[in-house]
Amino acid sequence: MQVFEKNNNIFNLLSEGVSEGIIVVNTEQFITATNSSAEQMFGYDKNELIGKHLDTLIPKRYLKNHGHHVDSFVKKSEKRQMGHGRDLYGIRKNGEEFALEAGLNPFELFGSTYIMALIIDITERKARERELSHWARIFDESLNEIYVFDAESLLFTNVNKEAQRNIGYSIEELMTMAPFDIKPEFERSEFLNLIAPLQEGKEDKLKFETLHGRKDGSTYPVEVHLQPSAVGDRNAFVAIILDITERTNYTQKLEKTVEERTKQLRDALIKEKELNELKTRFLSLVSHEFKTPLSAILTSVTLLGKYTTADQQEKRDKHVATIQNKVKYLDTILNDFLSVERLASGKINYKIETFPLSKIVNEVIYNANMLLKNGQRIRYPEDIDDILIAFDEKTLELVLSNLIHNAIKYSPEDSTIDILVEKDIDKLSLKIVDTGMGIPKSDQKHIFNRYFRAENALLTQGTGIGLNIAKQHLENLGATLDFFSEENKGSTFIVNIPKKLNTN
Ligand code: ADP
Repeated sequence: MQVFEKNNNIFNLLSEGVSEGIIVVNTEQFITATNSSAEQMFGYDKNELIGKHLDTLIPKRYLKNHGHHVDSFVKKSEKRQMGHGRDLYGIRKNGEEFALEAGLNPFELFGSTYIMALIIDITERKARERELSHWARIFDESLNEIYVFDAESLLFTNVNKEAQRNIGYSIEELMTMAPFDIKPEFERSEFLNLIAPLQEGKEDKLKFETLHGRKDGSTYPVEVHLQPSAVGDRNAFVAIILDITERTNYTQKLEKTVEERTKQLRDALIKEKELNELKTRFLSLVSHEFKTPLSAILTSVTLLGKYTTADQQEKRDKHVATIQNKVKYLDTILNDFLSVERLASGKINYKIETFPLSKIVNEVIYNANMLLKNGQRIRYPEDIDDILIAFDEKTLELVLSNLIHNAIKYSPEDSTIDILVEKDIDKLSLKIVDTGMGIPKSDQKHIFNRYFRAENALLTQGTGIGLNIAKQHLENLGATLDFFSEENKGSTFIVNIPKKLNTN
């Protein structure tokens, strides 16, 4: 103590000039001198610590070990840094603990040993370190890719784990690369142009989408958020990258779905329009188809009432025949309409039976003969008596009579209609060939549509139902209906019935 009093001025002079806290203890660890930095650090008044034991400044839980450390230190008597990687703590007068760093300097003065401790309060540094390691963890553990590159050399200086994982390059490799090396859509000059507004301070951040090229050659779409930053005294850029593969896929999928739905809607709209047209056409057809025979029936009935005498029997017969004919026609149309209804609801029971083809052909031709125009004739094979066919009789009759009636209707007087039968190993073909008005090319694709009638057929009576139901019935039974036709030359309709019928 006296030693220090003697040299107080020198000590003060030296110690007050340093910002570290200085505490001098003797070998018994009693404090013999302090500077004001140390007093302030520990929260004591001037000279208040002099004569106190060093333990006063050490939190209780460290005391046991601390005494031992100081002793062994004094014995070795060398200058060194305290702590050896452990955190050291001091305690202030008000009981508050704080992290510190201490360097110990033993020295001899007038035959006595002293230890001078140089103490730095590292509370703030610790907090900064904690914060830094916190940010470093966030940087490394972020699921976004983060790239930092130098503003001048453009070389990467730091790249987080997720980025290294996705791009496939190690940090060492990346540190020899620049952003345009992993962006296949960019040349160096283009990239420089892109970041120029950031370099010049005109913008404070940039956002753009591009591709990243992995080490393995594959690419992935990314959204880049680029901002200027600084690493130490060097300007840098920080790029936060979002891998938008999924988003892009999703967007593409969505766009495709929207496109498909739009097309479906457009198609539905077209169908709806077509349907409306058909409905209108159907209504006018029905009224026309019913009106003509009905007015013929009315005329015949009115005239029938006038032919009262016995010698007028022939006239009465004629009108009765007309009425029968017209009623039969109306009945046929109604049956066709009902067939449409039954086909639509699927309530049809077919009956497959084996019968001679000639049975149906003869029946159909017999009925058709009554409808022939002047000079029209039907030619048919005479040698089909031994052809047996397994099919639904009623359907075959409906189909053939429809096709032959059409051939008669759409052919002129004095023309010939041919019925051809061809037997193959696997199928039976029936062809109905006429030399009539034919079907205009542009109408051919619609000819099996329900209610559709070709432009050139509109002056002839008809409903546009026959071909449609004929085709549907045939297809339900595993058979087919096709045609070829040339306007003003004629048409050929072909029914193909396979040997092995699919009746399901
Ligand atoms: P419909 O004869 O009652 O109008 P269909 O369904 O039988 O109805 O025929 C549909 C349309 O096909 C007819 O309106 C006609 O335009 C055309 N068509 C059918 N058969 C022939 C044919 N042999 N020659 C020319 N056109 C035909």
